[in-house]
Amino acid sequence: MSLPVPGDPGSAVKRVGASAATITGMSEAPPRQFVLGVDLDGVCADYYPFMRRVVAEWLGQDVESLPLDVGWEMAEWGVGPGEFHKLHRFAVVDRNLFRDMGMVPGAGPALRRLSNRGLRIRIITHRLIIEHFHRIAVSQTVEWLDFHGIPYWDLCFMGEKGAVNADLYIDDSPGNIAALLGDSRDVIVFSHSANRHLDLPATQRAGDWEEAERLIVERFEAWRRRLDGGEDAELSRSERQPI
Ligand SMILES: [Mg+2]
Repeated sequence: MSLPVPGDPGSAVKRVGASAATITGMSEAPPRQFVLGVDLDGVCADYYPFMRRVVAEWLGQDVESLPLDVGWEMAEWGVGPGEFHKLHRFAVVDRNLFRDMGMVPGAGPALRRLSNRGLRIRIITHRLIIEHFHRIAVSQTVEWLDFHGIPYWDLCFMGEKGAVNADLYIDDSPGNIAALLGDSRDVIVFSHSANRHLDLPATQRAGDWEEAERLIVERFEAWRRRLDGGEDAELSRSERQPI
């Protein structure tokens, strides 16, 4: 599957330049910040190992019998069509999925370093996919973020990620990635077996948080150089800090 590449003149989609900071001050223009839109499941939260154990329990199978590589629908684990929502509700409500799953190695330290550089971390997650379980889903999410020391100033529960207008996104969902690129957004794909089929340049794919942090810093520094050459000639340290 070939996807349009933002900034690539040969791309099917022309990059129209997504403006980013939407932070609204009370009485004056807010300082400009680079907004990093961060997905949780499969990027920061280690979703698949936890779900592999839950699925094994749900189906009454040995966890080791379930393959490590799995697609988006988890069909390789024997999850049948129409069963995902029941399984997901069980995982969240009865096994505290959003509170107890582990952290993807390096995610917390990398996000803390990025926040210290002045990036504004905007968590964007589509976790409210089942009706009538939002209180537990949101409360577990906040507890998890605090427990792992994830720095963030915005927490968005929504599927239409382009609508929150980040300068750069990091995500692992093939659907989200296609939607963001189709909307001329810049996105780094956090690699997983479910998205390996996507044909993307190396600058848009990270295999771990070390690579992701390097790519994010490159984008941030390029953004700062553009600002330095434009109307926002000077970004003071205080302006680069989250407000
Ligand atoms: Mg995800």
